[in-house]
Amino acid sequence: MFMTLCLDIRKKLANFTLDLSLVCPAGSLTAIVGPSGAGKSTLIRIISGLERPDHGTVSLDGVLWNDTCNNLCIPPQDRGVGLVFQEYTLFPHLTVRKNVAFAAVDKDCVQELLVRFGVDHIAERRPAGISGGERQRVAFCQALARKPALLLLDEPFSALDVATRTNLRGELKKIKEILNIPVIHVTHDLEEAFYLADDICVVEEGRLAPQWLERQKNLRAVQLSQ
Ligand code: ADP
Repeated sequence: MFMTLCLDIRKKLANFTLDLSLVCPAGSLTAIVGPSGAGKSTLIRIISGLERPDHGTVSLDGVLWNDTCNNLCIPPQDRGVGLVFQEYTLFPHLTVRKNVAFAAVDKDCVQELLVRFGVDHIAERRPAGISGGERQRVAFCQALARKPALLLLDEPFSALDVATRTNLRGELKKIKEILNIPVIHVTHDLEEAFYLADDICVVEEGRLAPQWLERQKNLRAVQLSQ
C-alpha cells in the first residue's frame, strides 16, 4: 500500500492499556475522537516518536518506525512528520516568514504557503503581534513547510473562535486532497470529525469503542428534542 500509516500498538498507561490498531492511507483524514483521558494524545505522541509503545509496530509506507520486537524506534526528527498542536509552537523571536522558513525543506515554498493560508500580509510580524487564529495558520504553514510524509493534528482548532475554526477547517479539507499524505486529526468536536474525516476512530479507555459514538448521537438527539 502506498504511503499508508499502519499501527498496531499497546502501551500501559496510568489507568488502562492503550491497545489500538489503525490504518490510514494517503489522502485520507482519520479523526480520533473520544472522551478526555482516552489516550488520544498519547497515540499522537507514539506516532510522532515522542513516546514509545510497550509492544507493537508503527510503519509508514511499509517502513518501520517502531518495532518493539527488534527494539527499533526511529527518532521524531527522522520520521518526516508535520505536527500541529492546540497551542501554537512558533518561535517568539522570529517573524512569521522566518518561522516558516526555519522549518522549510525548500525555501521557495515559503511564500506560497503564506499565501495559501492567508498570512502573507503579516509575514514580517512576530507571533506576539498577530491573533491566535493567525498563529495557528502559521503553525500549519510551518508543519507543511517540512514537506511531511504524515500530518498529525492534536486539537489544532480548539482554542480558536468559531468563525476562525470554521474557516481553518475548510482550508484543511482542501489541502488534505492536495497533500496526498495520511492525516491523523484528534478532536473532541464530533461535528468537526464528521465534516473532515474519511474515517472516524473512536477511542475510549485506550481501545476502539464505536459504541461511544452511538451514545453521543443518542444524547444529542435527546438534547435537540428537549
Ligand atoms: P486524551 O488525549 O484522550 O485526553 P491522554 O493520551 O492525554 O488522553 O491521556 C490518557 C491517560 O493516560 C491519562 O489518564 C494520562 O494521565 C495517562 N498517561 C498519559 N501519558 C502517560 C504515560 N507516559 N504513562 C502513564 N500514563 C500516561
